[in-house]
Amino acid sequence: MKTAKFALLTGRDALSRVLEGIEAGRAAGLGPIKVNCVVIRGFNEDEVVDFADFARSHDLTVRFIEYMPLDGKKDWDRTQVVSGAEMLGMIRERYALVPVERASRSETATRYRFADGAPGELGFITTITEPFCDGCSRLRLTADGRLRTCLFSSRSHDLKFLVRGGASDDEIRQFLIATVATKEAGHGINEPGFTPSAETMASIGG
Ligand code: SF4
Repeated sequence: MKTAKFALLTGRDALSRVLEGIEAGRAAGLGPIKVNCVVIRGFNEDEVVDFADFARSHDLTVRFIEYMPLDGKKDWDRTQVVSGAEMLGMIRERYALVPVERASRSETATRYRFADGAPGELGFITTITEPFCDGCSRLRLTADGRLRTCLFSSRSHDLKFLVRGGASDDEIRQFLIATVATKEAGHGINEPGFTPSAETMASIGG
């Protein structure tokens, strides 16, 4: 990725710091190191194969993520979504890949390794074109103490209010059970009337 493009996408001129951080993590023995790459048509789909090269040359997991309506500027446009299948096709023109079995039903990425035994792994998170919500077991806790049952929920559940208010363990347990019962069947992005969350990915947490 080029420095200017990184700065435009993230709002930070920090590509070199991120690369240094990856190497520092490796030096500290952390692993697997995962790099998430959101691919946007007309912006960075020309770098998909470069990122596959990056995974091989640095022994990393690169996860290619379909562009989702979670951008702060609300600029998301369906025509800018590059499907996981299209990205996979681009990479397969250069490298033979072998599927990696899912570790659990709730795993978000469809994973591959290189058929020639080279290091690195690739994952594809196909939220828009091949949703995997039926296996989702996620709850997210925001930094200000609210539970969200889906990345795209239109509402949240105030856990901090309960905990700070002196609720008993049993009351908190009942609250969690009731919250989980409201979990959406899916994100609804492909259905008429879908309204993006007012919250950005940065405020929700990854
Ligand atoms: S239900 Fe929501 S959080 Fe779960 S996989 Fe679907 S979009 Fe993601």
